Amino acid sequence: MNDQLDAYWMPFTANRQFKQAPRLISRAEGMHFWTPEGRKVLDGVAGLWCVNAGHARPKIVEAIRAQAAEMDFAPPFNMGHPKQFELAERLVKLTPPGLSKVFYTNSGSESVDTALKIALAYHRVRGEGQRTRLIGRERGYHGVNFGGISVGGMVANRKMFGAMLAGVDHIRHTHDTRNLFTRGQPEHGADLADDLERLVALHDASTIAAVIVEPVAGSTGVLIPPKGYLERLRAICDKHGILLIFDEVITGFGRLGSPFAATHFGVTPDLMTVAKGLTNGCVPMGAVFASQKIHDAFMTGPEHLIEFFHGYTYSGHPLACAAALGTLDTYADEGLLTRGAKMAATFENVVHSLRDHPNVIDVRNIGLVGGIELKPIDGQPGKRAFSVFLDCWEKGVLIRTTGDTIALSPPLIIENQHIDQIIGTISDALKRAA
Ligand code: PMP
Repeated sequence: MNDQLDAYWMPFTANRQFKQAPRLISRAEGMHFWTPEGRKVLDGVAGLWCVNAGHARPKIVEAIRAQAAEMDFAPPFNMGHPKQFELAERLVKLTPPGLSKVFYTNSGSESVDTALKIALAYHRVRGEGQRTRLIGRERGYHGVNFGGISVGGMVANRKMFGAMLAGVDHIRHTHDTRNLFTRGQPEHGADLADDLERLVALHDASTIAAVIVEPVAGSTGVLIPPKGYLERLRAICDKHGILLIFDEVITGFGRLGSPFAATHFGVTPDLMTVAKGLTNGCVPMGAVFASQKIHDAFMTGPEHLIEFFHGYTYSGHPLACAAALGTLDTYADEGLLTRGAKMAATFENVVHSLRDHPNVIDVRNIGLVGGIELKPIDGQPGKRAFSVFLDCWEKGVLIRTTGDTIALSPPLIIENQHIDQIIGTISDALKRAA
């Protein structure tokens, strides 16, 4: 093993395997990465679902550079700097009406735990402090902090860490084998939202604070919500006074061809978490959008010095705000928040061309997200997909796999020839993997 690779303990990585055959990238521009040796690799996953405008965009680079020179840090508590306010004003113009307040964090995981805490505190400031139960969903991914893994539904992320948050339950996931090879939203499964009524019957609505779901689950295999499902979840939450949280860390900022999944599906949550595309992945940043109603509850409560006992040293960091403003400019200049809608039909057709491979057992897509599910090799879940990942990397295309599903989420600047190259490379790799 190369000694220089020894000290770094890599996240979500088989460190021992990686260090036997490291994969390094050291430069990026537009749709591509380059290895230190100069090999060009097409980015089929927008880095990690985040570089929505493509890499090294000049307005973002310049905004960060200028901000670093002007003011490197500003204390976030009881102090403000202009870009925090400017960014918030611009962001709430993009969100569905009603989501009019922004709380800054530094990652998707922090956004999730912040949203859960806002939900709990909201009920308490209104005198309904008995609403402490949080509901997630099977096959949910909400980051890796304790709130997120508790409401999340991935056993691998939970099983090593003992007790989770108390008082958490889960509704069923939305994967339904009647929907295999559906293009866009599946027909079957709106009634899976009724599983929330089962938990209401079990626990009583008066104990439930909030339900959190990803409108489109990404990290657990690209699960698209069945037609009518999110609407039904919204209606059940309204009926019982339960807050609905959308985790839009992946779906936010144009991934589906609309600014947010909430805008795309026409269903507005009470709280919405974002990260990734907020700064085009350039500087770590996340945010929680809250409804006016939730914010008002804190502002009209008994007078205190502090309304919400929560925040991070780097909340609204100047470099992150500058990066986000440069990102919003880039999205606006190039119409990127809706570009996915223009590319979606081509992307869909090309992705679905993979269905005839013998080991492909499902293809799912919406906007510029695709999931290609492979037949697992007996007793070795994820192995076939990972071998396809390695093959594609060798052939110059970066994809991502999650379990037995290949997940695609290219930068929104993608052109037809890139789509052909990504899918052609996967197709060849699938032939070899067979
Ligand atoms: N929520 C969702 C839906 C995500 O997809 C992710 C990351 N993939 C997170 C939360 C966590 O974000 P981060 O890795 O920035 O903490």
